[in-house]
Amino acid sequence: MTEIAVTGAAGRMGREVLAAAADRADIDVAFAVNRTPVDERIGGVVVESSDNFAELLDDYEPSVVVDFTGPESAVEYAADCADHGVALVTGTTGFDSDGLGALQAASESTAVLKASNFSRGVAALRLAVQEATAALPDADIELTETHHNAKRDAPSGTAKALLDDIEGVRDDLTDRVHGRAGEAPRTDDEIGVHARRAGDIAGEHEVLLGGSNETLSLTHRAGDRSIFAEGALDAAEWLAGREAGWYDFFEVIEG
Ligand code: NAD
Repeated sequence: MTEIAVTGAAGRMGREVLAAAADRADIDVAFAVNRTPVDERIGGVVVESSDNFAELLDDYEPSVVVDFTGPESAVEYAADCADHGVALVTGTTGFDSDGLGALQAASESTAVLKASNFSRGVAALRLAVQEATAALPDADIELTETHHNAKRDAPSGTAKALLDDIEGVRDDLTDRVHGRAGEAPRTDDEIGVHARRAGDIAGEHEVLLGGSNETLSLTHRAGDRSIFAEGALDAAEWLAGREAGWYDFFEVIEG
């Protein structure tokens, strides 16, 4: 049984995590917090104010904190986790270099697993994109991601991970071009990046590789957010009890 705490409990992902945890025999929720208090039980759990987060860590001693909030708050939670020796799984996206540095600093004192996407399908997409990029070294590459209309960061964390993957294979692609307007012919060194926002779409990513007389399109569509919650709980179970360090979701999948 892995004891977890959940931050951002009243958010879209926090609710999914609590709902998924309620259905799993291997996970117990020690406590859940949200920045703004909510007068309801979510997944059977009382949601407390995040103001008391450090005290709650002392009182309940969870093994892992599962965080889906925003970059500023995730960094604060990471520091508290480091102080208390509690492992952190964060799915929060949109960190700047300072935020990433703060997470990495926390990983010197506790186990930290950060993933911009907890879907196993997206993990498979990333591997497929690396293979396809290597197999089609002259292809023009365009990436399109689509999310719900309340998403704050663009392009998505998953899109950035895919771009890093592509650039890791193709070092001639050095220019990320975010949308095009007006006179904007394509150059050989660019990857086009397009972020669409509409309705309540959970997340779609398409990588298009275009060559002469053939195109290859690799697409992942999340049916709903429960896949991310299940992946994050798998990561929490895997991370519990591990030594301080920086971990990623591929290690969870590989077991
Ligand atoms: P949301 O806006 O619905 O929820 C965020 C929640 O965090 C809100 O309830 C908000 O009140 C709370 N919050 C913010 N700051 C807080 C603080 N300081 N203390 C406590 N609670 C705080 O957003 P969401 O759709 O749930 O997404 C959250 C994050 O997770 C985003 O960065 C998003 O990109 C990311 N995300 C990641 C994955 C993945 O698989 N890694 C999947 C979906 C979303």
